[in-house]
This record gives sequence, C-alpha cells and structure tokens, in this order.
Amino acid sequence: MIITIRNQANSSERSQLIALLGRITGNQHPITTTKMGEREVIVLEHRSADAQKLLEQQPAVEHIVQPKTAYKLVSREFQSDPTSIVIGNGHDCTSVTVGGASASPVIIAGPCAVENREQLLSTAQEVAQAGARILRGGAFKPRTSPYQFQGLGIEGLHLLAEARQMTGLPVITEVMEPELVGAVAEYADILQIGSRNMQNFPLLRAAGRDSHKRPVMLKRGLSATIDEWLLAAEYIVAAGNPNVILCERGIRSYDPQTRNVLDLSCVPLLHELTHLPVIVDPSHATGRRELVPTMSRASIAAGAEGLIIEVHSDPDSAMCDGRQSITPDQLQKIVRQTHLMVEIMQDEAIHVA
Ligand code: PEP
Ligand code: MN
Repeated sequence: MIITIRNQANSSERSQLIALLGRITGNQHPITTTKMGEREVIVLEHRSADAQKLLEQQPAVEHIVQPKTAYKLVSREFQSDPTSIVIGNGHDCTSVTVGGASASPVIIAGPCAVENREQLLSTAQEVAQAGARILRGGAFKPRTSPYQFQGLGIEGLHLLAEARQMTGLPVITEVMEPELVGAVAEYADILQIGSRNMQNFPLLRAAGRDSHKRPVMLKRGLSATIDEWLLAAEYIVAAGNPNVILCERGIRSYDPQTRNVLDLSCVPLLHELTHLPVIVDPSHATGRRELVPTMSRASIAAGAEGLIIEVHSDPDSAMCDGRQSITPDQLQKIVRQTHLMVEIMQDEAIHVA
C-alpha cells in the first residue's frame, strides 16, 4: 500500500504513524518515507484491509492507495495524471518538457557516441537546425566486445557541455556505474540508463538518490518484460527521483533481419499501467537506418511522448552504430512528419485515445 502523508502533519503525528506501522509490520522492515514532488509517501508490501482502516484514522495520513501491481509509485493506480518532466534545469539551455497532457512529442537526436570535438559540435548544430530539442551522445559506451571503442569518458562529458552551450539544447548521456552518477549528472540534463543496465539495482538506486536531481531515461532491458521494466523504474522513484522517462528500444528475438523487435504495443499499454512518459528509440529497435523514418511515424501514432534517434553526418564512418544512424537531412524530415502527425492526432475525429 502507498500511504500519502498530510503536508501539515506535525512531528508527533508522524511518530505516532511510524510506531503504528512498526506494529503492523512486526518491525521487520525499516519504515522510510519517499518524496514524490510535493508529496511524501510511505510504501509497504502489506495489503491488509484491516490495517488500511486503522491507518486511515491516523491524523498524519492523507490517503491510502493499494495498487494491485508489484510496482506501486509508478502505477496509474497511484497517480492518474501523466507525469510531466522539465529537462534542462540548472544549466544554461532551453528547457524542454517531456510528458504530461499538453506537451508535444520531443525529438532527441545525436550520435551514438561522442567521437571527437569536431564531430560532436557539427552534429549538434545540425540536429538543432533540423528541429531536435535535446542532444544525445554517449561518453561512456556499453560495448559488447571489450576491444570496441568504449567512448571518451569524462572528456566526452566536457564536449557535451560545450555542445549545449553552443546550441542551447539540453543533453542526455549514459551512465553505467553508480560511482559515476554524480560526475555524469554534473554535465548531463538527463541520465540515460541503458538496456544492459536496466536491472543494475545499485545504479538505479544511485540515479534515484542523485543530488543534482536529473531526470532519468530508463531503456528497456534486452529481454525485459514490461513488469520488470516498471519495477526497475520503481527502484529509481522509490530512491527519491520521480522523474523517470521510459524508453522502448526493441527486444531481443529470433530473427536477425532487424537488430531487435520494436514492441510498439508497449506504448499504449504503458500509458494504461503507468503515469511515466514513454519514448521510442527506432534506431536501436531496428538497427537499420532505412526503417527509422517509418518506425518514427509509427511510434508517434502509437502515442509516444518522444523519439531518440541516432544521427551522424557520415553514418558509414561512425565509430559506433553507423548502420542504424541517419543523416541530419533525414532527421529534418522526421521532425516535420512528427509535427504533421501531431496535428492529425489532435483532430478529435481521428484521435481515438
Ligand atoms: C545507446 O543509446 O547508444 C545504447 C547503447 O542503447 P541501448 O542501451 O538501448 O542498447
Ligand atoms: Mn547506439
């Protein structure tokens, strides 16, 4: 159950509540409170209706929700309004809103990896001109082989900060280790947690506790079920960071024709299950640049709150993921088509949600 604490509750009312919770749970787990924006909540595995009745009489309790799912704070049962996340706070850039009823889909674009200064700055300028609103670029790359390019590390973060200053675009980059969350969050506007780390629980907790309070984009694990993915998001939120964006990037299947299988049905499904925004990565989902425009349109039609797309000015010479990278010109077309799709979907006759 999720107990929302009344904002005005005084310390003796709170202590009384904590003592009662201790008795109800047999003092088996420490009772911790979590900040969800303005709200403060306590989450318990406990589900007894009698306990709920008792707790509801406590002066410190505002209300209690009992989501039926294993994930709690990220569930729609707990929060019916969609979460809206402001990106770019604390850095000198144009802030961008992802998710929420009134925000239009956000296009994130840039190279798979930050390769060098010239490459990043020119690509950043080109994606900004093409209409992207957030710049992507990996400084720490999770590569399948230890002999492949692993990214520029901290130097890549410095270059991303320079690209932000030049274009005004907030930046997103991947963090792979809990110990590096602080360093990456100093430079990034969104922390990316990659597919291979979706269940790296110490990393999820560290991103949840991040003192810079950067929003986190959590990519779906290579073979993760939707419940596993939502529980991974729950780790971040339960650790104190309510600003999580889910990113569908395709799941592992048997057919090598595409790199992964883009599970587009997860987009409307997630909108039923969770209040968190959902974006789609058609680049990693397909692994083929010629499929990226079509799957971008399909993702917007499915209700995605954004797209994250790999762009390179010379895809064939990219150090990482060139096969799935599109050019800035192709990105410009996708941005235009996204605006058109949104207009069509705003037409009440066609909007079916
Ligand atoms: C990436 O975004 O470059 C990346 C490595 O993605 P994923 O974690 O989805 O494979
Ligand atoms: Mn990539």
